[in-house]
Amino acid sequence: MNVLYRSTRDKNGQTVTASQAILQGLSPDGGLYVPVSIPKFELPLSDLEKLSYRELAYHILQAFYSDFSEQELKNCINKAYGPNFTSPKVAPITSHAGNTYLELFHGPTIAFKDIALQLLPHLMTTAARKNNLQDDIVILTATSGDTGKAAMAGFADVPGTKIIVFYPKDGVSPVQEKQMLTQKGENTFVVGVEGNFDDAQTNVKKIFNDPELNKVLNQNGFRFSSANSINIGRLFPQVVYYFYAYGQLLSTGKIKNGEAINFSVPTGNFGNILAGYFAQKMGLPINKLICASNRNNVLTDFFNEGVYDKNRPFYVTSSPSMDILVSSNLERLLFYISGEDSIKTKFLMDELTSKGIYKIDDSMRAKLADFYAAYATEEQTGQEIARVFAEDQVAIDPHTAVASYVAESYKKNTADPHETVVVSTASPYKFPQFVLTALHANYSSDSPFTMIDALHTKTDTPLPQTIKELATLPLRHPREVKPALMKTTVTEILGIDK
Ligand SMILES: *Cc1c(COP(=O)(O)O)cnc(C)c1O
Repeated sequence: MNVLYRSTRDKNGQTVTASQAILQGLSPDGGLYVPVSIPKFELPLSDLEKLSYRELAYHILQAFYSDFSEQELKNCINKAYGPNFTSPKVAPITSHAGNTYLELFHGPTIAFKDIALQLLPHLMTTAARKNNLQDDIVILTATSGDTGKAAMAGFADVPGTKIIVFYPKDGVSPVQEKQMLTQKGENTFVVGVEGNFDDAQTNVKKIFNDPELNKVLNQNGFRFSSANSINIGRLFPQVVYYFYAYGQLLSTGKIKNGEAINFSVPTGNFGNILAGYFAQKMGLPINKLICASNRNNVLTDFFNEGVYDKNRPFYVTSSPSMDILVSSNLERLLFYISGEDSIKTKFLMDELTSKGIYKIDDSMRAKLADFYAAYATEEQTGQEIARVFAEDQVAIDPHTAVASYVAESYKKNTADPHETVVVSTASPYKFPQFVLTALHANYSSDSPFTMIDALHTKTDTPLPQTIKELATLPLRHPREVKPALMKTTVTEILGIDK
C-alpha cells in the first residue's frame, strides 16, 4: 500500500510522499503531516517475540515510509540500530519495585530521543537523494535538553547537512549543557538562548517560516528541515518500541497473546505518547495511554477538562524535557479526535496562537477515553525515585520517575488489572544532583562530575561510556544570544548575512 501524507490544517487534503514529508518537516501551511490512512500491523502478535528490533523496525516503518525501497530502508535501519546502542535489544524491558520499565536510554546520548534521531539523518539524506535534491539540508532545532544533543549526535559529519541547535540557557541540566557544548562535528552549531524553551521554539518556528529568509537560503544552496518531534521521520521510529515491548512481555510470560496493556509515558511535546496512539491504531492491544506530566501540567488539564490553556506560569523542574507549555504534537491528536477535520484543527490551533487557549467540544472529548492523565510534583517525583531505590537499589531518572509515580497512582486509583509499562526515557546519570537529593544523599558540589561519581558509588549502576568521557572533552560552542537575535545568528552561521 502506498501511504501518502497530508497536513492537519489543509481542507483540500493535498498529499505528499513520505520522503517529501520527511524533508519538509512542517507542512507549508503550518500544519503537521499525517498519513492519509493509518496502516495496520499485518503480522500476528505472537510473531513479535521472534523479531529482532531491526526486523520489527523494518516491518513497521515500511508501512509508513512506503516510497522507500526495501534496500533503502534496511540500510537506514542498519546504520541506526547497531553498536551505537549499548543494549543489543535497543529497547529492553526491566522490572523494578513491582513495575515494568521500557528502557529507551541505551543510545549515544543516554536518552530516548536517540531512538528516532539515530535514524532520522539517514532517512533524510535518503529522502533527499530520492527527490533529486541538490541543496544542503539545514536542521534548525529548539531543544529543552535532550533533542538537541541527540539530533547533533545523529547528524554530526553527515555529508550534505548542517545542524543549528538553540537551547534555553536556564532550562537544561549541567550535564545536558556540557553534552551539547562538547559536541563534535564540523557541521554542528550550538547556541544558548537567554530565555525559556518556548522562547527558543517560537523563534525557531518563525525563522523556519520566514519567506524572505527561505528565499535567501535557497539562493545560497540551503534549505531548512526540522529534526523536531513534529517530523514524521521522528514520530514513526517511536512506534516500533511499543510493539517491541509487547513482544518482550509475551516472551517473559507476563502477558498472554492478545491481552491489552497500559503504557505510562513521561510527556512533553507529546511525540512519544502519540507514537503509542499510532501503535494502538495499527492494532497493538493498548488499554490506556497514561499521559504523565510534571508541574507544567497543561496536558493533565487538557485531558481532564477539555481545555488547553497555555496562559499559566512556566516552571523549571527536575525533568526539563517535559517543561513545555505548547505540546506541538498534540495537533495530530486533535486532528484525529475531530474525525480528521482540518478546519476544526486549524481553528483550534489559531485560537492557541491568538488567545493561548482553546476548548474542545464533547464529541472530541469522548474520543479521549483511551487516555488517562495526571502529574507529579517535584516532591512526588523525588519520593518515587526514593521508593524504587529502596526496593531495588536502582536509580531512575526524574522523567521516568514522573511516569512511574503517575502509573502507581493510576493503579491505586483505578484498580485496573492490566499490565502497566512505564516508559523510561533517560539514564539517571543525566540528572545526578536531583537523583542524589531524592536518595537523601547530601552531596553538594558545583561539578556535575563529582555528582556523577557520587551517584555511581551510591547506586552501583554501571557508568555509561559517554558520561565517562564528558569530563575531558573540550567545549566547542561559545555562542549565547537573546531570543530576538536568533535569526541573525542563523544567517551568520550559514554565511549569508551580507
Ligand atoms: C523529550 C523527552 C521526554 C518527552 O517526550 P515528548 O515526546 O516530547 O513528549 C521525556 N523524557 C525525556 C528524557 C525526554 O528527552
